Amino acid sequence: MNFYKRLQTRKINVGDVTIGGGSLITVQSMTNTDSRDWRATVKQVKQLEEVGCEIIRVSFPDLESAYNVSKIKKNIKIPLVADIHFDYRIALEVIKQGVDKLRINPGNIGLKDKLKVLIKEAKKAHIPIRIGVNAGSLKGIHSLDDSLLRAKALVNKAMEHVRILEKYDFHDIIVSLKASNIETTVQSCRIFASKRNYPLHLGITEAGSLRDGSIKSAAGLGIMLCDGIGDTIRVSLTANPVEEVRVAYSLLRYMELRNFGIEVISCPTCSRCKVDLIKMVSEVEQKISAIKNLNKFSKPLKIALMGCFVNGLGESKDADFGIAGGKEKGVLFKNGKILGEVSPDKWVDKLIYMIRDYQV
Ligand code: SF4
Repeated sequence: MNFYKRLQTRKINVGDVTIGGGSLITVQSMTNTDSRDWRATVKQVKQLEEVGCEIIRVSFPDLESAYNVSKIKKNIKIPLVADIHFDYRIALEVIKQGVDKLRINPGNIGLKDKLKVLIKEAKKAHIPIRIGVNAGSLKGIHSLDDSLLRAKALVNKAMEHVRILEKYDFHDIIVSLKASNIETTVQSCRIFASKRNYPLHLGITEAGSLRDGSIKSAAGLGIMLCDGIGDTIRVSLTANPVEEVRVAYSLLRYMELRNFGIEVISCPTCSRCKVDLIKMVSEVEQKISAIKNLNKFSKPLKIALMGCFVNGLGESKDADFGIAGGKEKGVLFKNGKILGEVSPDKWVDKLIYMIRDYQV
């Protein structure tokens, strides 16, 4: 837990969740329903809550959708962030409706008097503002062929927005700087972190599909988290947002920044392997994901699935329990000690039973 020396950032409250100031790195996601359909949006937020999403962002593109904020709020448990572009009237409406945070770039609001009213209302309601600068929407950035120059351009744009809020004595700020390129994202976050202590929301934007997007996000976010940068994360994937939350937690868990839930380790197999380990791992993972109430509150547990007991037991010493497979039978072990033999048709169910028993 102490390997990564986290940068000290300002503590910001988003509803009842704290971001920054040394608090746990929180996991966010975003709905992809039509927010004018509040029931569909609530349904998706509930699915995300179930897998541990801690803050949810919803885009409100017009006033019609903004009127739904209080209905959505009433039916969900986690803080709601409203994503607004340009129109300050939508921002004022979502504040009125009780939103917990705004994602809006003040420099895009236009007239100063409108901006002044908006900031005053956000302040009065104790609502923080996330400034989010994405490379994709930054004019001229694509002509810069050096990633450091692109990073500086992102930071300059973010600083423009930050200075506007600071001018109005508004400091409940969270900032995100995202590109679909790891180098640019990492450099921009590093530069920003050297300028201000506002919490950083990390993500690689347009990261891609479940597999490639997860790898890209893990690589990019991993570098920044290792630097101690980052207070809240979103893994952006072209996939069901539930997967974003799952991947974000896996990343935090494997970096030992959040300690909870079940980690399955398994060997790569070799000529000693006498079992269909790929099938076994997939069955175990499926059954684990079907266990209700396994989430960020679950006790940490490491399960090992090994292809043989010649080396399997020794190679999985740090696992809490697991199976070392064999042709006719395998062995079930706990904390390095053999509990007994188990036949292939029973080992997955036996293991799942032990997991359930441990979690109760
Ligand atoms: S545990 Fe056994 S099967 Fe798996 S890689 Fe090691 S030696 Fe091979």
